[in-house]
Amino acid sequence: MWNPDLSTPSVVSEPITGYTIGTKAYGLVEVLVDCPGTQALFTYNVPERLSIRVGDILSVPLGGQIVGGIAIRFVDRLPDGLSIDKIKDIDDVVASGLFKANYWQWLTQIAEYYYTPLIQVIKVALPPGLLTRSHRRIRALISDESAITTDSNSGIFLSHIAKQILNLLNSHPARNYSWQHIQKQVPQARRGLRELLDRQLVESYLESGKTQHPKLQKAVILTSELVGSDLNDRQRKVVEILKQYHGELWQSDLLKLIDSKSSAILKNISDKGYIAIVNKEKLRSEQELGIFQQEQAKVLTSDQAVALATINQLSGFAQVLLHGVTGSGKTEVYLQAIEQILSQSRSVLVLVPEIGLTPQLTDRFRSRFGDKVCVYHSALSDGERYDTWRQMLTPTSQIIIGTRSAIFAPLPNLGLIVLDEEHDSSFKQDQPSPTYQTRDIAKWRAQLESCPLILGSATPSLETWVNVTTNQPSTYYLSLPTRVQSRPLPPVEIVDMRQELQQGNRSIFSRPLAQALRQMQANKQQGILFIHRRGHSTFVSCRSCGYVCECPNCDVSLAYHQPGAAEHAQLRCHYCNHRQPQPRKCPECDSAYFKFFGSGTQKIVEELDREFPQLKCLRFDSDTTRTKGAHRQILTAFVRGEADLLVGTQMLTKGLDLPQVTLVGVIAADGLLHLSDYRAAERTFQTLTQVAGRSGRGDEAGKVIIQTYNPEHPVLAAVTKHDYAAFINAELPERRVLDYPPYGKLILLRFSSLDAAAVEQTVTEIGVALNDAAISGHYEVLGPAPATVMRVSNRYRWQIMLKYLANGTATLPDWELLRTKCSNVVKMTIDVDPQNFL
Ligand code: ADP
Ligand code: ZN
Ligand code: ZN
Repeated sequence: MWNPDLSTPSVVSEPITGYTIGTKAYGLVEVLVDCPGTQALFTYNVPERLSIRVGDILSVPLGGQIVGGIAIRFVDRLPDGLSIDKIKDIDDVVASGLFKANYWQWLTQIAEYYYTPLIQVIKVALPPGLLTRSHRRIRALISDESAITTDSNSGIFLSHIAKQILNLLNSHPARNYSWQHIQKQVPQARRGLRELLDRQLVESYLESGKTQHPKLQKAVILTSELVGSDLNDRQRKVVEILKQYHGELWQSDLLKLIDSKSSAILKNISDKGYIAIVNKEKLRSEQELGIFQQEQAKVLTSDQAVALATINQLSGFAQVLLHGVTGSGKTEVYLQAIEQILSQSRSVLVLVPEIGLTPQLTDRFRSRFGDKVCVYHSALSDGERYDTWRQMLTPTSQIIIGTRSAIFAPLPNLGLIVLDEEHDSSFKQDQPSPTYQTRDIAKWRAQLESCPLILGSATPSLETWVNVTTNQPSTYYLSLPTRVQSRPLPPVEIVDMRQELQQGNRSIFSRPLAQALRQMQANKQQGILFIHRRGHSTFVSCRSCGYVCECPNCDVSLAYHQPGAAEHAQLRCHYCNHRQPQPRKCPECDSAYFKFFGSGTQKIVEELDREFPQLKCLRFDSDTTRTKGAHRQILTAFVRGEADLLVGTQMLTKGLDLPQVTLVGVIAADGLLHLSDYRAAERTFQTLTQVAGRSGRGDEAGKVIIQTYNPEHPVLAAVTKHDYAAFINAELPERRVLDYPPYGKLILLRFSSLDAAAVEQTVTEIGVALNDAAISGHYEVLGPAPATVMRVSNRYRWQIMLKYLANGTATLPDWELLRTKCSNVVKMTIDVDPQNFL
């Protein structure tokens, strides 16, 4: 017998060539075993008595125990070094049909495309412990066991053990028990169960483990729509608010909305019989009721109506680009398209950029679809993740809104996938493997599920643009060229900061921007100031000797962080999170002129305080939004008019729809323009267009001011005119000449090691080997070169890029062979279609 020993990884079968997906009565099957300390693939034999489908939840023997597993794929070959007599039989099928077979087919496709072992893809897709936290239960399907145990005509005779199990089950009011309990009560229950299952007298299923108690919280429910004369104005307002929110709110949210700290007012209205205050279960999946105004389905503009009609008539796979300028009502089109999918009892996946997951967006979805909406992102706790996962496995139609990892949501009835802001770089996973591009794997999934994929953007990625506009099959281009209600796009003014300096203005704020800020405040309007974080780092240096504080582990300067009131200032590394107190004097020359430079958000806010003391500012960046609920707090304060200006980074560019914002300022566009990779122009155009799009979304006209030292840059001209076509027409030929995506393809090999010499030697050798094979392989080798930041967390990093045409002529190297050339202290990872070259 083969006893898998958990300590030897050799039994974990690496991908085996030649497998099939589907139903098979017997053979070899790879099973994902998921128990504490182990998440790995093992090969098992399917005994003849069982019929197994890919995706079934199984029980299998492992190291003397019976553990849970999922059938991943059939294989027709044994793992190397194992003989058939070492392979164990699957014990039983616990539950069938929980996962669809094509889900596993899709994961396999991802593993192959991104050159990643299947188990690693599964680890990204499934939260650990999914099976261990769930319990197998058995339910009797026949209530009156005497009907089958005594009726000799039917010819059914049950063994003693089977009868015992059936009796036990029928003693329970709901006729089911956990398998664990049955095994305790009935000796040798396993044999009896097999018999009952074969005769379909019982069923086996999986119930989610209730290890944590549901959280109860007070909710207020409207019980009468009529407002009587016995209510005073304040009490009436409570009833009105509840009506707006579909008659139900968490008590804490309601109190916030009426600006009250005490629940006495609610008690009073409750006593009069208008509302009820009840304890409701609050799912750990971030179910917050919103503070943003509730909204109804809108009457569509004609462009929106055309887009929706096209989407609604799609059946089967299709890739749709919804290209709509900022504020053109793309979200409204998604919402109404989703409505139709839900009415067909199917589910929807909505993917948004990491920083686009604003409370405003989720509120909009919740206000339309209520508790059908689940939010899923990487910051959930394990408990929340697990709850959401169990919820996703149920066949009820639902909407999952999440960031890139939510693409793995195992919804059984997927009817539509929406990728909002499809151009956003957070849809690409840089590490660890698989280094997937959500847009691409979403397309494969939509193909397997035969459902449409909608890609929405004001500034589509060049990949999508070329894909959809070159008449590929099943692609649709839908355009929303104007803002709703004929609102104009805001005029964009470019300010030359060199001229400002020449004319004696040394402030961070140009005169036009300063003027606009004053005007904005005089008109009681609000504004947004955008700072590109990487543009100017907030490094600390000595004004006497020029010494710069650097991270001891990485080749970057440390960033300055203003602490809370009583704390000492800190320096932090944005790569490895190293922290140290800010020295009071220069460590090199003892000079006291040791200051921080640059224009981070903090710096800008300080400058604003100095130059515009009457302006109230709120910081909205990764520092101020770190704690849970902070996004919502800051935005709520801003929406309520508690500040004039929202000052922040990239986070401001996505998904904010604040009608009262009329001014958008960009402090320095230059950091964006000078990013050192072939996508710099594309990223600049996208970011600036998105930021500009936050302005003038309400009744008042908006404006945008972009400050730069490079006013002639052609990308800025395209941004000024809101001219995507001009940008594309300039950019695409450049990509074509150099065979960059979307025409060519790239693979980035990343190497790193604690040993500087070892990694350099490895990349040199591999570079030579690749160059030797490049001509016959029809690819080009760029590098080896050190990474832009060569050392991170004390690891020395090098990279080699392969570039080749997408037409299939290239023969790529055998990566595993290449890996064998690596010194064993060097780590090599393969980034397919890389986006981040830092
Ligand atoms: P986008 O996602 O394209 O930037 P949104 O969907 O956020 O645009 O729409 C911008 C604003 O216009 C939102 O406040 C939305 O409620 C409103 N809106 C969208 N469609 C309509 C419509 N047909 N009629 C009136 N208002 C609309
Ligand atoms: Zn110094
Ligand atoms: Zn560091």
